[in-house]
Amino acid sequence: MKKLENIREVFKTMEHRKPSSIFCPKCANPDVKLISSLDGWLTPKKYICEKCGYYGPLIMELEKTEEEKGSA
Ligand SMILES: [Zn+2]
Repeated sequence: MKKLENIREVFKTMEHRKPSSIFCPKCANPDVKLISSLDGWLTPKKYICEKCGYYGPLIMELEKTEEEKGSA
């Protein structure tokens, strides 16, 4: 049952990954919406920014990292 173990490892990795934040590549507005159609595998995902009106498949994605303690 090595296959099952592999699947479990995949789930582990997914759980470990923290949710990432997305930003508009144009105005860096974090309030962008992902437009996903039912046929997601046919059409690429697209994002829309209501702030600047950006609409496209490109998005800035930042993984939430631990807050750096500013040590001067
Ligand atoms: Zn924008």
